[in-house]
Amino acid sequence: MKKDKKMGLSTRSIHSGEIRYNEYGSITTPVVQTSTFIFRGTHEIDQLQKGAKGRFEYGRYGNPTQVAAEAKLAALEDAEDAVLFSTGMSAITTTLFALLNSGDHMIITDDAYKRTLDFCTTCLQKFNIGCTVVKMCDYKAMEKAIRKNTKIFFSESPTNPYLNIMDQEKMVAIYKKRGIKIISDSTFATPYNQRPLEYGVDLVIHSATKYLAGHNDILAGVVLGKKEIVQPVREYLKITGGCIDPHSSYLLIRGLKTFELRMERLNANGQTIAEYLEKHPKIKRVYYPGLKSHPHHDVAVKQMKGFGAVVTFVMDDNVKTVHKFLSKLKFINIGPSLGGVESLITHPATVSYYKLTKEQRLKLGIRDGLVRLAVGAENAEDIIGDLAQALG
Ligand SMILES: *Cc1c(COP(=O)(O)O)cnc(C)c1O
Repeated sequence: MKKDKKMGLSTRSIHSGEIRYNEYGSITTPVVQTSTFIFRGTHEIDQLQKGAKGRFEYGRYGNPTQVAAEAKLAALEDAEDAVLFSTGMSAITTTLFALLNSGDHMIITDDAYKRTLDFCTTCLQKFNIGCTVVKMCDYKAMEKAIRKNTKIFFSESPTNPYLNIMDQEKMVAIYKKRGIKIISDSTFATPYNQRPLEYGVDLVIHSATKYLAGHNDILAGVVLGKKEIVQPVREYLKITGGCIDPHSSYLLIRGLKTFELRMERLNANGQTIAEYLEKHPKIKRVYYPGLKSHPHHDVAVKQMKGFGAVVTFVMDDNVKTVHKFLSKLKFINIGPSLGGVESLITHPATVSYYKLTKEQRLKLGIRDGLVRLAVGAENAEDIIGDLAQALG
């Protein structure tokens, strides 16, 4: 099915990218589990060289199951083109390698995903690519950081773990007129809740590991935007080699078919749990963009359809108290990641940031009482029940 804006999100996520009558008459897209493709004769070599659609050569250069998943994602984001990667990090690093040259400069916000920050501030430096880290949502600093050789602005929204929200209009107004490409990691928002391309963002990146695949069973990343920018990234992927495999592509397709259903439930659960925690006497503070108490609530309401399922909260700043609470949970599992149907809870100070000293953690805003809950698709009353008994 071709991308059709009039079709609803579920119709697109179920039918886009699928070949209606494939060779086998199977309703599902086959998992073309192969590393290489063979030619029936030299006429097929000619077809390949002419760029014939549906003609493949070697697994790293593309696979039919991957192509179906890419078309589905492009339809969901209303993007001209999409390219899939083995992980979100592979999508981010390959995109930056493809678009930056030695001597260029980029800007990134300070609460971006930690590994993205690591890559931009250390790996890119080896290639003489400068990177300025600016405070998230400090629009003056975002403008001041611009240099003559600035080529890219990279940010996320909402961010981890405080769910800060970048004002898309303000961000685009600063960079667009100067010809600086804007890349937005929209993992926490998903195409259900936020549409950065409609504001003029050049490229949207998702860790498809999270809400898009949605079942905590694969790693994947995707880059979406206009063909003219996605194409050079796809060419670079053929060199860097972080391609998605056919089976993960299939699991992504399968997960995406219930994308809208899951997001409706996850958004509702996120809001319900955030409101419950905000009223709980043992919780000092809750961060959730759907709450009036969130510093960026107004911006979130203006540009988002829903606020996702990550709820961050602060308990007593005492590792023992937090660990006692975590160990009492009955079905909410302790673990990193988010966006799947299973609820996951993590304690940033002793999981993602345990290698840092307490001072370094506090500088990043990671206090000992901070807890991040990635609410799953279970029934909200059961999630509340589990939290209540563990807090009690
Ligand atoms: C998880 C995540 C990534 C990295 O994605 P992987 O699929 O784990 O490589 C990047 N950005 C954000 C916002 C994430 O949550």
